[in-house]
Amino acid sequence: MPDPEKDNLETRCPRLGSIIPFRYCMISGEGDMPCFKILDCWWEIFDVAAYLKENLPAGVYDKLITAQPKPRVATIVEIAEGTKKRNE
Ligand code: SF4
Repeated sequence: MPDPEKDNLETRCPRLGSIIPFRYCMISGEGDMPCFKILDCWWEIFDVAAYLKENLPAGVYDKLITAQPKPRVATIVEIAEGTKKRNE
């Protein structure tokens, strides 16, 4: 069940550069999806992963989890491996 206290929590948005409430993050992604950065932006403030799992339809939660950006190191390794293969 959505929690009005969570909806009113605020943080600085790295995309907008201003203070915004959690409720904005819940609807600011594609369509009615939460923003793809929601886990990254809120994990230090509360257990956002558990909250999303409890409050989003399973399909929306799964889509959000699979849309998470890859860690930078993994991306760099993949690029390096691709370059190495092309040069072989
Ligand atoms: S989840 Fe998205 S909208 Fe919310 S603070 Fe992070 S970048 Fe901004």
